Amino acid sequence: GTGTLEGFSRVADLHASKLTVKLAKTLKPIPHHDTLTFGNTMSDHMLVADFEPRSGWSAPRIIPHGPLSIDVASSCVQYGTTVFEGMKAFIGPDGQPRLFRPDMNMARLARSAERMALPPFNTSQVLTLIKKLIEVDQRWIPAISGYSLYVRPTLLGTQMSLAVAASDHATLCVMLSPTGPYFRSAAKPISVIAVSETVRAWPGGTGGHKVALNYSPGFLPLRVAQKQGYQQILWLLGDDMKVTEAGAMNIFVVVRRDDGDFDLITPPLDGTILPGVTRDSILALGKAHTAGETTLPGLSRSTLLHTKEKTFTIPDLQRWYAEGKLVEAFGAGTAVIIASIGKIGYKGEDMVLPEHEGGLGPIAQAFRKRILDVQEGRESWNGWGVS
Ligand code: PMP
Repeated sequence: GTGTLEGFSRVADLHASKLTVKLAKTLKPIPHHDTLTFGNTMSDHMLVADFEPRSGWSAPRIIPHGPLSIDVASSCVQYGTTVFEGMKAFIGPDGQPRLFRPDMNMARLARSAERMALPPFNTSQVLTLIKKLIEVDQRWIPAISGYSLYVRPTLLGTQMSLAVAASDHATLCVMLSPTGPYFRSAAKPISVIAVSETVRAWPGGTGGHKVALNYSPGFLPLRVAQKQGYQQILWLLGDDMKVTEAGAMNIFVVVRRDDGDFDLITPPLDGTILPGVTRDSILALGKAHTAGETTLPGLSRSTLLHTKEKTFTIPDLQRWYAEGKLVEAFGAGTAVIIASIGKIGYKGEDMVLPEHEGGLGPIAQAFRKRILDVQEGRESWNGWGVS
């Protein structure tokens, strides 16, 4: 059920050809890139389209970025029927904007919408519209390596009713925000604290979807963790203390094997884990490296990575750590690409990972560099860079 109006067959789908553009009268000054903190600066324009059950999708419009008028009795306000995406636009060496694997974000947005019983939409039309919006606000893409324009498509349930029921009305909105390194000290590894008293996601829940309600319940535990001196939470699940995700990132650990190769392990997509685009890219690149289809930057051909989507627990981490086999741990996501994890706290004790010049271990660094090279258009791989 992704990307079609099945069940809504008599109503209009979203059509990029119906786009209208109303430009802002005055354009904002673009802040110096050094002053950008993640998500705090919005570009000049946004894309909006509305769904109404009788007529379907309205003509999409690009308008100046600003507040939308939403009744406080709306579904998204009362029941959190909000789903969203996060992707980035880069300026390539040819001066053209490019996106990284945007089809994956569009497919995930459609799945999230379906999970929250929000109306469907044609994902390729949404992508075309996002490209148009980026073209209009192209001057907002910082032309500096490590910087980009973060794209935040959002779908809101706008049914005005206090009834506890699906929202048949919706608004699609896409905004743009120029961004640099996510963590202020990008080169430094982050610290995480493993938390089991509160859980991010559970079997049968919505952890595998990008729905707003997955995030706000984590704010209080994050505040507690930060008071204890850690930057992010390592979310656990179950009595066996399964490791699931780190903050809003997928987690990878690198474990040295007895044969000298490395296991690159991340939890499987069992419904509690967000299917990250970065996660998928790391798994694919890791496999390609070991198959000899590519050589990841800075790694020797003989560094073999055995990629594994496999459940692991805190006791597993403690064992690998005690045996000196836990060589790297990192979080992976669009905002950070890769954030090295330097310290894992659990029940008052810290596992401290080896330090590396530049912050990232060699394997994390190899993935980060290759992904950034593809994103910024210096290299191509499997059609991942899309202009
Ligand atoms: N896990 C969670 C909970 C996230 O919110 C994100 C960010 N979308 C990720 C993982 C990483 O996903 P991606 O690589 O697609 O950004």
